[in-house]
Amino acid sequence: MAAIIAFFVAHWVLSLFSQTFFLHRYAAHRMFTMSKGWEKFFYVFLYVTQGSSYLMPRAYAVLHREHHAFSDTDRDPHSPHTYPNLNKMMLATKDRYYGFVNGTIKPEKRFEGETPEWPLLDRIGDSWVSRLTIGAGYTIFYIAFAPHWAFYALLPIHYLMGPIHGAIVNWAGHKYGYRNFASDDKSRNTLPLDFLMLGELFQNNHHEFAMAPNFAARWFEVDPTWSVIRALDFVGIIKLSPHIQKARWTKASLVAKPKRAAKSTLADAIAAAGMDPAE
Ligand SMILES: [Zn+2]
Ligand SMILES: [Zn+2]
Repeated sequence: MAAIIAFFVAHWVLSLFSQTFFLHRYAAHRMFTMSKGWEKFFYVFLYVTQGSSYLMPRAYAVLHREHHAFSDTDRDPHSPHTYPNLNKMMLATKDRYYGFVNGTIKPEKRFEGETPEWPLLDRIGDSWVSRLTIGAGYTIFYIAFAPHWAFYALLPIHYLMGPIHGAIVNWAGHKYGYRNFASDDKSRNTLPLDFLMLGELFQNNHHEFAMAPNFAARWFEVDPTWSVIRALDFVGIIKLSPHIQKARWTKASLVAKPKRAAKSTLADAIAAAGMDPAE
């Protein structure tokens, strides 16, 4: 039983760390820099930790930049306010993601570029051979260590770990919780101490301050990934800019601002996602 719990928690935390640290804050937003060598290291770490549900950094980044630019409008690739249920949202997200992977959907030019790319590892990670072999590995581990067959009910979570994390963040983070900022979308902060999703559930803070590497904004909020980022910066593995954006909360933050014109909202969102809107 201890082995199964340890395996489940380790897979959950490490896979989620790869998603929030490497795919989200690095590949999609470029919140910090690292050497090519460390980029390769974290690329391999992503493959090992996401395993059977490997997500390609480039396609993830394009999808995510669209999410910021069109948040909770009908062009948002995964808003819970567009889809009637979680399942439909996940399937539509998967189709769009694979459209970018296979080149059948061409993203707007401004959402592309500046993402880490390793075509060989992407091909391996996305192949059925890799997905099925690693999935079989999870199954064998459960056969060896599960004290009762009922534990096998956890296996689908291992097989689909990456998309499940994405679905929790995209659904709950735009539907349940409190707001600190009058951002022009429906984002929310679901958990004030976000140990469950390593900071990803501070969606409202993140949409208002999209380039702030610390997703927490108020004294009682804790973003565990921010502590790891600071430690990695301290030892020189990554480099945070001395001018990083900081989320600032005041009592006035929740007062709705005058609506910005649609064009500038889009440009703001793209700039905030680390892209140059002029390109
Ligand atoms: Zn969001
Ligand atoms: Zn983001």
